[in-house]
Amino acid sequence: MAETKYIFVTGGVVSSLGKGIISSSIGKLLQARGYNITIQKFDPYINIDPGTLNPYEHGECYVTVDGMETDLDLGHYERFTGIKTTKANSMTTGRIYKSVIDKERRGDYLGKTIQVVPHITDEIKRNIKLLGQKYHYDFVITEIGGTIGDIESAPFLEAIRQMKWELGKRAINLHLTYVPYLKAAGELKTKPTQHSVKELQSVGIQPDVLVLRTEKHLDDDIRKKVAAFCNVDFDCVVQSEDLPSIYDVPINMLNQGLDEAILRKCGEQIGDKPALGPWREFLDRQRKATKEVHIGLVGKYDLQDAYKSIREGLLQAGVYNDHKTIITFINSEELTEQNVEEKLKGQDGVVICPGFGQRGIEGKIIAAHYTRTHNIPTFGICLGMQMMVIEFARNVLGYKDANSREIDEKTPHNVIDIMEEQKNITNMGGTMRLGAYECVLRQGSHTFNIYKQEHIQERHRHRYEFNNSYEKEFEKNGMMCVGRNPESELIEIVEIPGLKWYIGTQFHPEYQSTVLHPHPLFLDFVKASIENQKKK
Ligand code: GLN
Repeated sequence: MAETKYIFVTGGVVSSLGKGIISSSIGKLLQARGYNITIQKFDPYINIDPGTLNPYEHGECYVTVDGMETDLDLGHYERFTGIKTTKANSMTTGRIYKSVIDKERRGDYLGKTIQVVPHITDEIKRNIKLLGQKYHYDFVITEIGGTIGDIESAPFLEAIRQMKWELGKRAINLHLTYVPYLKAAGELKTKPTQHSVKELQSVGIQPDVLVLRTEKHLDDDIRKKVAAFCNVDFDCVVQSEDLPSIYDVPINMLNQGLDEAILRKCGEQIGDKPALGPWREFLDRQRKATKEVHIGLVGKYDLQDAYKSIREGLLQAGVYNDHKTIITFINSEELTEQNVEEKLKGQDGVVICPGFGQRGIEGKIIAAHYTRTHNIPTFGICLGMQMMVIEFARNVLGYKDANSREIDEKTPHNVIDIMEEQKNITNMGGTMRLGAYECVLRQGSHTFNIYKQEHIQERHRHRYEFNNSYEKEFEKNGMMCVGRNPESELIEIVEIPGLKWYIGTQFHPEYQSTVLHPHPLFLDFVKASIENQKKK
C-alpha cells in the first residue's frame, strides 16, 4: 500500500463501551488481510502517563517493551494482534503540552504566541503521522480516550477534523455509540446515538462508520434509521452485541463486514475474507472448555481492571489447558492467619499480585506462607514475588523482622532492598526500572524447564529488588534464585523446587501473554493447578 491510512476511533453517549476492543478487533482483521498495522491510544488527561495513577482511577498500568507506562488498552492491542507497542503508541494531553512547552522554552516557535490551535493540534497531528511515516504502516488506528463532548477531547477532535480534511479518503472516523434498551417502553432507543453523531458533526467531523453497542439485537430497520439520520451508509452501520468473550468481537465484526466497510471508505481494494484459522481454533477451544480450574487472586485492588493482564493471561492459559479459569479475588487486607484457610479454600492455585505500598502486605505474606506450607501451586508476580521472599526469610530463615525497604526502611533484615540506581530518585513518574530486560535462567531449574530456553526477555516495573547478599542463605534453605539479569546481577526469579509449583518473578510475564501466544509460565501454572485439583 502506497501511503499510510488513518482510522480514528471515537466514542459517544457513555464511556466503557469498549473502544479498545473495537480498535483491537479492527487491527486484528486488517492484519489478517495482510496489512501492516499499529494501534495508538490518545488519553485526554493531563498526567504525562498513567504510571502515577491509582489503579482505582484507571485500572492496570500496562508497560511496553521500551518502558513506557501506558493505558491498559495497549494490553488489548497486543493480546489481539501480537504486535508489540512502544512509547509512540501511547500519548496523553500532558505529554502533548509538555512537548509544546519544551519547544517554546527552547525558542523553537520564533516569538509566536502559542495556542491550542494550531500548536497543540499540530503536535497531536505530528504524533499521529509520526507512527505512519517512521514505520511505514499501512494503517494507523488511533483510539481517542474519553467521550465526545468532554472538554478535554476538543483539541484531539480538531486534529482529526483537520487530518480528515487534509488526507481525504486516507483518514476515516469510526464512532462507537450506545443504543440502550428501555425496558418500560420495550424499545431500543437510537436518539442518544443521533445526538452523539450531531455532537461530532458540530465540530466538523462526519463519521464514516458507526458501531452501535447494544445488549439486544438490532434489526435492519434500526440500522437503516441510524444510517439515515447520521448520513452514514447502511453497510457502514454495524452492531456490537454483548458476546460471551471479548475475543469473539473480531469474528462478529468480520461477519458484519466491518473490515470491508473500512477498506471501501479508504478507497482500498477488497480482497478475500480472512480465514482467521488459529483465532477461530482458540474460540472453539474456549467454548468447549467447560471443566473449571479455580485460581485465587490475592491482591488489594477489588476492581476487575486492576489486574487485567494477569486475568487475561490466566484465562488464555485455561483455554490452552482445555479448562475454564474461574478467578476469585481475595482481598489481602482481609486475610489473617485465622481465616486464610477458609479464604483460600477451593482454590487450585494462587496468584500473589503486584502492587505498591504498605496496604495489604501482611495478607500477601500470610497467603504465601499458607500456600508454601500446604503445597498449593503459587505464582508471585513482582510485589508478589517479594512477599514470597519475605515470608521465606521470616519463617524458614528465622528472621522474624525481615521486610522490604519499601515497607520498613529500618528493617535489619532487608531481604528486599531498594535498587542502587533508585536511591537518589525523587520524581515518581516514569523513574522505576521499566520495560524489557534480559534474564538468564539456571539450566535444570523448574523455570528453565518451563521456558525451555536459557535467555528470556521480560518486562519490569519496580524500584525494589531481591537483596543478593542473602542469596546463599536462601539457596541453602531451599529457595533458589534461578533467573538473573546478566549485566546487573539482579535476581529476577525465585522458586522452591521441592514444591508442586512455587515460583516468583520480579518481572511481569502477564504483559507478554497473547491469545495466539500464551505465556509459558501462565500455561504451566494453570496446568499445575489443574493437576493439583485432581490430587486433592
Ligand atoms: N512495589 C514493588 C517495587 O517497587 C513492586 C512493584 C510491582 O509489583 N510492580 O519494587
